Amino acid sequence: MEDCIFCKIIRKEISSEKIWEDENFYAFLDINPVRKGHTLLIPKQHQDYIFDIEEPLYSGLFRAAKSLSGPLRGATGAKRVGIVVEGLLVPHAHVHLVPIENPGELDSSNAKKADPEELAEIAEKIRALL
Ligand code: 5GP
Ligand code: ZN
Repeated sequence: MEDCIFCKIIRKEISSEKIWEDENFYAFLDINPVRKGHTLLIPKQHQDYIFDIEEPLYSGLFRAAKSLSGPLRGATGAKRVGIVVEGLLVPHAHVHLVPIENPGELDSSNAKKADPEELAEIAEKIRALL
């Protein structure tokens, strides 16, 4: 979709700290992470609402989330990887994958613009574990 910010990221018109991709999905670090390693996983095919995604793509999205969860935990040392699906700001379906330690850490009010060097460093660590 022409004006969609996440479609632009997939087309590399906007740069992103890529974690992983395959033919159907793309994962990259959120520029305003709520926690270190906060990752966004998106389908490459533009779709606004996540629950409008048809099978087998829908299940594939959550299989990809599962595959990313191990490296995310490993790279951050977090206790768990939490999932948030909101999509109220960017109308391209996405799953937030957030390494967490304590209750409440998924709250989007914890979001803070990240230093690009810090993002590059954590992305490298995650990619090394894929
Ligand atoms: P939501 O739509 O789920 O409420 O939030 C969209 C998320 O996308 C936010 O966490 C925001 O920080 C992130 N985001 C918005 N624009 C960009 C961007 O250009 N690059 C990256 N990496 N993340 C973005
Ligand atoms: Zn899009």
